[in-house]
Amino acid sequence: MTDDHNIFVTEETVEGADDGPLADATVAVKDNISTEGVRTTCGSAMLDDYVPPYDATVVESLKAAGATIVGKANMDEFGMGSTTETSAFGPVENPAAPGRVPGGSSGGSAAAVAAGEADLALGSDTGGSVRNPAAFCGVVGIKPTYGLVSRYGLVAYANSLEQIGPLGPTVEATAELLDVISGPDDRDATSREEGADTDYASAADGDVAGTTIGVPTELVEGADAGVRERFEETLEDLRDGGATVEEVSLPSVEHAVEAYYVIAMSEASSNLARFDGVRYGNSGGFEGNWNEAFSDSREAFGEEVKRRILLGTYALSAGYHDKYYKQAQDARAWVKQDFDEAFESVDVLASPTMPTPPFEQGESLEDPLQMYLADANTVPVNLADLPAISVPAGETDAGPVGVQFVGPAFGEEAIIRVGSAVEN
Ligand code: GLN
Repeated sequence: MTDDHNIFVTEETVEGADDGPLADATVAVKDNISTEGVRTTCGSAMLDDYVPPYDATVVESLKAAGATIVGKANMDEFGMGSTTETSAFGPVENPAAPGRVPGGSSGGSAAAVAAGEADLALGSDTGGSVRNPAAFCGVVGIKPTYGLVSRYGLVAYANSLEQIGPLGPTVEATAELLDVISGPDDRDATSREEGADTDYASAADGDVAGTTIGVPTELVEGADAGVRERFEETLEDLRDGGATVEEVSLPSVEHAVEAYYVIAMSEASSNLARFDGVRYGNSGGFEGNWNEAFSDSREAFGEEVKRRILLGTYALSAGYHDKYYKQAQDARAWVKQDFDEAFESVDVLASPTMPTPPFEQGESLEDPLQMYLADANTVPVNLADLPAISVPAGETDAGPVGVQFVGPAFGEEAIIRVGSAVEN
């Protein structure tokens, strides 16, 4: 197999059970999801030679379902990024838009599906990392409701926000993978019973007659003209299918990006403390004192990861905690409340997944703030613990455009149904 786009960090085949719902399927697994005996780097030099002694629950599920794992997909380091350019193993190129980024942080996973290197893929979505690369690569991606899929064996970036999610070429195929990985897990206390018995694939029936779709004006206004055009055409198609479209307002989303980054960086600063050369990660040796050895070992982190550990530590420090972390938690509660209110009058919400088409490679690294703002439409969903899907909705000159549908908690069937109508 040739990997022209730098999609895989490690290409290794792991066969699953002889039969099962995914017996004919190949799957790429994001490299922050633990695979027993197969190197799991999180896109970081810190874990260059780390081989987990156990499988993540989702990997056990893949194997039991008969899937063949074909490799560990490249990603932004520890999931921190929106373009897959912060990987210590080099950037991934977008197979659907040459010279452009595949989105991120699950860029390798989306690119694997877009390039036909795998039938399906697993990514993780802390603030958009499944939906963003799905949109940029012209494939489907689902961010499940918080608790629907076990996080056991997912290397943590920001636990309270993230979920493992499926990517695939069609809504139905992606939903089939969700069927395989969803359900409660004794090893993840945040996993939930709810939704476990649902047949997600059968919800991909394209029937939107009678569905009310809300469009949050705040998530459309800032989008590029080409993206808005594709979005409006999608709404038109849904109206033709019998759906009603109405405007709604989510005033709190104005603060979502800042709240998300404070919370995500705070959690990251705590989670990444385990990479100290003793418990995990590159060892600097222990000739001198502990502080020196600790700081030596952490040289292995890249720029973006270091930036986030510093900012997260600052936001949590005594004296600043109330000013940043607590305010961010208040904003998170407000975002949740806005979504709850919107779902009193609509079944699903629709917006462009990303406000722009895929960036050119190299463009976003210069200005981290600009990169954070690209997450404006995806992060509110993680703050509110809700499910969302990104579905391809045509292209602009710069590459694919994705449309996002958000549902109420455990409302995956509704967003799968509407997503499948867009495909038809
Ligand atoms: N771009 C966002 C971040 O860098 C989202 C990443 C993700 O979902 N893992 O935090």
